[in-house]
Amino acid sequence: KAAPLGSSVIPIVNKLQDIFAQLGSQSSIELPQVAVVGSQSSGKSSVLEALVGRDFLPRGNDICTRRPLVLQLLQTKSRSNGGSDDEWGEFLHLPNNRIYDFSEIRREIEAETNRLAGDNKGVSDKQIRLKIFSPNVLDITLVDLPGITKVPVGDQPTDIEARHRTIGVITKLDIMDKGTDARNLLLGKVVPLRLGYVGVVNRCQEDILLNRSVKEALSAEEKFFRSRPAYHGLADRLGIPQLAKKLNQILVQHIKALLPDLKSRISNALVATAKEHQSYGEITESRAGQGALLLNFLSKYCEAYSSLLEGKSEEMSTS
Ligand code: GDP
Ligand code: MG
Repeated sequence: KAAPLGSSVIPIVNKLQDIFAQLGSQSSIELPQVAVVGSQSSGKSSVLEALVGRDFLPRGNDICTRRPLVLQLLQTKSRSNGGSDDEWGEFLHLPNNRIYDFSEIRREIEAETNRLAGDNKGVSDKQIRLKIFSPNVLDITLVDLPGITKVPVGDQPTDIEARHRTIGVITKLDIMDKGTDARNLLLGKVVPLRLGYVGVVNRCQEDILLNRSVKEALSAEEKFFRSRPAYHGLADRLGIPQLAKKLNQILVQHIKALLPDLKSRISNALVATAKEHQSYGEITESRAGQGALLLNFLSKYCEAYSSLLEGKSEEMSTS
């Protein structure tokens, strides 16, 4: 069974986000974005769809993605009825409009693309922003980009910085020339990448025309790799579920790296709160004690208020 993106890390992130929520609004976990880069029709949109597990992006052998699509995945609580009203999309340009029908989402992306980029293959750099709410996703942002004509790959890459954050995804392994395979490419022997490669088989145009689901495509992909001896022994580098797993691992590492800072932020907040609590004096039962405490509160309030006023007037005199 194919796990949707993020399923294994959702509980960890949820817990962390609960902690952050208690710390106040200035704290949050900044999760990395995943952007797809590659030539036109190389299968970028298909990969993102497979990761989300739903069919909703315009794809085809012609240029389809003509504006950047920023896809924010937001996890919702799964309802007990498990009905289809669990998943919906919302466009920034159509606020408060939940779209439950994913083919309507695709039509809106197409219409909105035409609105700005024209309907004659023009490309625009104005983003379309779409939120997908679903119980099966992790809060992460995916960016679908129009194709670039050529990825410069030389012996001496100048984009070394970018390549250190790149996972190579090799698509269309099912339609390679007979007698060839991508084994060496997947092993990083052709263009080494620090984060390595994953080979995938997405739905072909015929699958899309015949309305084959993303689920069916995933099991066809698995079958394909099992039937090809050239890919035996490479199971950790093959298939959309492996790609999802890799992205998860990177997310988990990212979150782990944030933990020490998170910990010190929490303990600082604890110390500050304890200090503030102390400054109010002992809680007491006696009337006189309560009166003193109240007086203490009031004088602190006055102090704070007058220093606020002073701050204001200073600001005014310097501006
Ligand atoms: P993009 O322009 O990079 O976003 O590419 P798309 O995702 O729109 O795909 C372009 C075309 O290639 C579509 O017709 C897809 O069905 C097809 N395609 C994508 N990935 C694969 C694959 O792994 N195998 C096959 N046979 N076709 C694919
Ligand atoms: Mg595309």
